[in-house]
Amino acid sequence: MISPEEVMGCNLTLEVLRGCDYYCSDCTVDKGAETLDISDEDTKDILSLIDDFDERFYKKLEFTIGPTDFISADNGLSSLDHPLIKGLNERYISMVIPLVMLNDRGLDTLAAKLEESMPGGNVVINVPVTLKNMRNDKYRAMLDKRILYFKGMLRTVKLHHVNLNVNVMLGNAERITADEDRYLQGLQFSAKTAIEYAFGHSRKGLNNILTTEELKRDIALYSAAVRGLADTKLNKFLVPRTYDAIELVFRNSKLYYLPIVFERFPMFIPEFEIPKPWTADKVAEFKEKVVTDNLIYFSENKVCSNCCFLPNCARGDVQTMTRMLSFDNCLIGMKNRWDLDPFSYVYGRDSDNELE
Ligand code: SF4
Ligand code: SF4
Repeated sequence: MISPEEVMGCNLTLEVLRGCDYYCSDCTVDKGAETLDISDEDTKDILSLIDDFDERFYKKLEFTIGPTDFISADNGLSSLDHPLIKGLNERYISMVIPLVMLNDRGLDTLAAKLEESMPGGNVVINVPVTLKNMRNDKYRAMLDKRILYFKGMLRTVKLHHVNLNVNVMLGNAERITADEDRYLQGLQFSAKTAIEYAFGHSRKGLNNILTTEELKRDIALYSAAVRGLADTKLNKFLVPRTYDAIELVFRNSKLYYLPIVFERFPMFIPEFEIPKPWTADKVAEFKEKVVTDNLIYFSENKVCSNCCFLPNCARGDVQTMTRMLSFDNCLIGMKNRWDLDPFSYVYGRDSDNELE
């Protein structure tokens, strides 16, 4: 019998929005690249893939429509009428949309459209934020007011939760510390609030030495912050557990497996492309191959071969990153740190953050 914890999450992101009116300082999204040009064949193939994920083994948690601000994107509202989005709404627990929420414009229209297209459904909003703004009382009050305003306009649709999305680069990376993470994890707005980190560097491509150096530095800063939370309920090990969710991205008619090392790395390169026909078995095989390839790589690698976390890092995509960054040291800064128990990862948001 499979316990609920062993049922693997299965999340899908559609990168189909084009255009954005904003200029976030740490944005790495190519705002003009995508179109909601999803063929009937791809619609059928994606829906049949999602149906193929057996409910006993996979839980269809969230699908995301991105990558740009949903209201200012050229095709945000109209995307909700697309048969693929409608079909995913029937299958997934929640739909996630990015909303920058810097003004009220369009929030009423969006609420009305959600009521029309997915009555009774769950919506999650991803708000791109900076750590600097999160320490600004005025900004937080403004954001909370808008979340409340938006929530108040929803009648049957539930605002399931709000994700504060932090891009771990530039000013954010410089500010991230264990205390800062603890502060962020403690923030609650007028809807249940969670923090999500991502490394946007990979969107710029990792063939530029400046980008790779920046990524190495930011990984080190993030890793130090996470290590500072060891032995607390906020501790999180830096590579995924066996049953962590499978993350897939559909983009330009291709389906990608999303590598996770510390957080999500959007990497739209052939190595991560899942060929058609898309089936749940193919995705599982792809994941297995990542683990096997990583194990082979690590066992031959002078740094990792004698490390206690070898199986954990093989399960993540540390190997791919290590190779792409030509890194000859422990990428995640945890070599043989027995004290950082990989199994003590807790999704803890309790008032008492310390472990008993
Ligand atoms: S809202 Fe998103 S896409 Fe638009 S500028 Fe900000 S981060 Fe970039
Ligand atoms: S040395 Fe670092 S990257 Fe290599 S297996 Fe150990 S923890 Fe992972």
